[in-house]
Amino acid sequence: MAVLRAVLNNDSCLFFPGSAKDRKRSRAMWVRKIENMPAHFSYERGIDQPNNETLEWIAQSKFADNLQYMKNTGVESIKRDAEGIFHLTDHKDNVHQARHVIFCTGVMDVQPLIGGDIAPIFPYANLQTVDYCLRCDGHHIKDKATAVIGHTKGAAWVAIMLYERYRPQAMYILLHGQPSQFDPETQELLDMYGIKVHSQEVAKVLGDPKKGMLTGFRLADGTGLHAEMAFVSLGMLVYNDLAKQLDVKLDERGFVVADAQGLTSVPGFYVAGDVMAGTKKQIYTAWDTAVNAADAINMKIRSARRAEDLKQFRKI
Ligand SMILES: Cc1cc2nc3c(=O)[nH]c(=O)nc-3n(C[C@H](O)[C@H](O)[C@H](O)COP(=O)(O)OP(=O)(O)OC[C@H]3O[C@@H](n4cnc5c(N)ncnc54)[C@H](O)[C@@H]3O)c2cc1C
Repeated sequence: MAVLRAVLNNDSCLFFPGSAKDRKRSRAMWVRKIENMPAHFSYERGIDQPNNETLEWIAQSKFADNLQYMKNTGVESIKRDAEGIFHLTDHKDNVHQARHVIFCTGVMDVQPLIGGDIAPIFPYANLQTVDYCLRCDGHHIKDKATAVIGHTKGAAWVAIMLYERYRPQAMYILLHGQPSQFDPETQELLDMYGIKVHSQEVAKVLGDPKKGMLTGFRLADGTGLHAEMAFVSLGMLVYNDLAKQLDVKLDERGFVVADAQGLTSVPGFYVAGDVMAGTKKQIYTAWDTAVNAADAINMKIRSARRAEDLKQFRKI
């Protein structure tokens, strides 16, 4: 969305989509079917496919020359010089210059280690019987026995909210060997709804990994629990490394702080999407924040040009 808006605003835009490694660790890569946004139901890969269509459309459009698409590379490091110009070194060691930057490197959900490894959860996450985002996928649990993996108050509230919305067949929390951080009021709600809390570590994910069909969990003490769906609520890794290189202001969780236009504490450096503090971590909020940033940059570019034009006009 940041690229599309900048290009349609008739501004020159350098686009770094990230390397294969960057993309693999992005949320975009995990997203399959999208059911909480109109017009997305037919896509099997709800972020990748519309993004590719957008880039193809730009390449065929009158605005094609506005875009320099730095395919298969991301930004390794960034500096801002005394004139306020950003110098971006890509993963191939080429240096590029930009007057403004829209930073949208995203976040990643923390995965549970099962038997010391994150791999056992992936087949289920890939086919969305293990989910991470309430607003995106909460509705999947309707009529299904559901587990929530997590030990913080936030995890307890994921279970409470899912229960209140969908009244699943069964709902329980897996602390996965961590001490519970639930306060007495939260615990009382869990008790009221009959949401059981299991403290043992998860030893095995049960089901058919090839089909992504989850049937439950085996705990370290041998207990077997039935579940057709699970939600992971273990927090997020925030990809803020480049922002840190510029000493941009971050909040206590590492998200990038910005004003309503997405301008951060560093002039010319804008933020959009999941990495921005205080946003819903959703596609449509990523789009909205990207449009805010691209439009704010366009306003700066137009204002500077207008001032120059006025100078010339007044000379005549
Ligand atoms: C399993 C799952 C399902 C979801 N389902 C939905 C849904 O149904 N509806 C919904 O609205 N939201 C959904 N979300 C949330 C949605 O994925 C995010 O809100 C959205 O992807 C955020 O977009 P973003 O551009 O901020 O970050 P991302 O999509 O994570 O993209 C970050 C990008 O930054 C790039 N990058 C990283 N480092 C660099 C670098 N150094 N240089 C250049 N590029 C870099 C990566 O390659 C990647 O392309 C889901 C999330 C998950 C995990």
